[in-house]
Formats: sequence, C-alpha cells, structure tokens
Amino acid sequence: MSVFQVKGAVVTGAAGFIGSHLCDALLNRNVPVVAVDNFSTGMRSNIDFLTKHANARSLKFIEADVIEPWQWQKSIPHEWMQKLSHVFHFASPASPPLYQELAFSTLWVNSLGLKNALEFADSLKSTGCGARLIFSSTSEIYGDPEVSPQPESYWGRVNSFGIRSCYDEAKRFGEALLFTHNWKKKTQHGLVRIFNTYGPRMNPHDGRVVINLLKQARDNEPLTIYGDGSQTRSFCYIDDLLDGVLRYAESDITEPVNLGNDVEFTILELAERVRSLHANKKLTIIRQPLPKDDPRQRRPDLSRAKQLLSPWCPKVSLPEGLRRTSEWLEQKA
Ligand code: UDP
Repeated sequence: MSVFQVKGAVVTGAAGFIGSHLCDALLNRNVPVVAVDNFSTGMRSNIDFLTKHANARSLKFIEADVIEPWQWQKSIPHEWMQKLSHVFHFASPASPPLYQELAFSTLWVNSLGLKNALEFADSLKSTGCGARLIFSSTSEIYGDPEVSPQPESYWGRVNSFGIRSCYDEAKRFGEALLFTHNWKKKTQHGLVRIFNTYGPRMNPHDGRVVINLLKQARDNEPLTIYGDGSQTRSFCYIDDLLDGVLRYAESDITEPVNLGNDVEFTILELAERVRSLHANKKLTIIRQPLPKDDPRQRRPDLSRAKQLLSPWCPKVSLPEGLRRTSEWLEQKA
C-alpha cells in the first residue's frame, strides 16, 4: 500500500550505479529529482545519461559533497522544495577496493552525510511531517555471517578493527543513527539492506566481482578468482532491487528490510556463467589471494521483504541479468 507516495525526491549518490538507476526510475514517473553527487566514485556518464531523459526538465543536478553543510539547498526553486516528499541517501563508495581507498569519506558519508540528510528531510514541511528518508544500508552489516540465509533479526559478525570496518561499521552506525533519530524525534525514516546488486551503468573499474569478470571476459583477459572461489554471494539485478526500494519508500515501514536475490552461487559458479556467455573465447581462470575479512557466504532471507512489500520478489535470473549487463558493457567498449 502506498502511504508515502513519492512526489519529489533528493537522491544523494545520483552518479553512482544504484543512485542513477533510482533517478531514472523517478524521472520515468515524471517525479522532480534533485540529484546530488561529488563524483568521488560515481560516473559523469551516468548524469549525462539522465540529462538525455525525456523528462530531464524534472532533473536538477548539484555537484556537492554531502558531508559538507547543504548550502546548495538554497538553489532549489521553492516550487520544487514544496514537492519533495523523499530523500534517498544513497551516496557512499560501495566496492571493497574503492571504500578502502576512500576509507575516511566512507566513514563520514554514512555518518555526517546521513546526519545532514536527516536534518534536511526533517526541515521539509511540505508533506506536513517532513520528507521520508531512505538510507541505503547493506548486507555488509552482517559481516562474515554464521547463519545462512541472513534474516534481519541476525545481529551479524563484524570485525570492527580491520580493512572492511570503514564500510561495515559506518553502515552500522548509520543504522543506529537512523533508529535513534526515529526514536527520539518521532520520525518515520527507513532503511533497506542491499545485497550484491549488479547491472548496466556500474563503474567497470570499481572492482566488484560481476562487473570485473564481465569486463575481463569482454577484453579477453583471464578471469580473476580470489581464494578458491568457494565463497558465495547472491546477485540481484538492478531492476528487481529498485522495485523493492520504491515499494519500501512508499510504505510507512521503518524497520530494516533485506533486498536482493536469494539464489546463492559460489564465485567459481559465477565465473563459469560468465565464461558460458563468451563460449567463443578461450577464457582462463586465475587465482589471486583472498582479501582479508572476505565473507565466506552471503544470501538474504527475503521473507520480510516478500511479506511487507508484496507482491515484490526478484524476477531476473543470473544468466539473464549477466546477458543484459554484458550487452551494455560491449556497447561501452
Ligand atoms: N572477487 C573475485 N574476483 C574479482 C572480484 C571479487 O573472486 O575479480 C570475490 C571477492 O573476494 C568476494 C566476492 O568476489 O569474495 C564478491 O566481491 P565483491 O567485491 O563483488 O563484493 P563483496 O560482496 O565482497 O562486498
């Protein structure tokens, strides 16, 4: 049921993979979008893509770092401010190599950046109670889990003092901040826990496994497997994720909801799927060291999502999603 219909939105991280698809989906609904990004990991080509949208007049792009005070809000026309019903705080590096390179920014964007976004959302009175904020949390808050699949009730197993902690703990802090904000200020903001998601317009250089393997296959390079490839992930195609995000945004749910695909693959199986997409090439697989604290398994328990966001459920299979992503990547070459 649509309780909080999206009438206008601020999207932070709009040049990023998920953020740009979110802006696209909102423009498809002819919703005004204030898109914010500082291009620390997002791609200018994603904003260029949005500026060519048939409803691009409903898009306002602002180049800014959301960690800094949101002075730019003064440049949003009054009529737009009146319509803003949602703030999607999706800005954050998300791939392990990039969040480790930008470790401090990762810590701050999920804490100070989220604080700024919450304060901005609450300052909007157009809907009578301020805008609803949706925070992009992550399966990483479960760390290297002892239970599989991971339900939202699982508290996780995270190393707070290691190379992944700048991301994992920042997202956990973000969740705590959002919970406390709702509790103390009686607001109705929410968060989704996003599991491994892939699709067109991912940064081909960001190092995440799906896009990395597809790029290597495209360029006729060996496919890199970290460790023995027996670790598992569950891969969600971007369209399925967005459908869930928008259903969540329009509900009044404030508790965390897992979003992803619950079909689990080993990384070796993923590499085989990529190989079979390029059957005409003789692609080899090479082993590289497993990064520190790399989770052994990851698969969402989607019971809560399927119940609360009904009739949502992931529909795009891995072979189909890989085919679509690979087609996009080929055109980009
Ligand atoms: N991985 C791999 N080869 C690559 C990139 C990643 O084997 O070229 C592995 C990585 O070690 C991890 C899994 O694939 O076990 C998923 O990694 P990704 O960076 O996509 O994200 P994560 O789920 O670890 O946050």
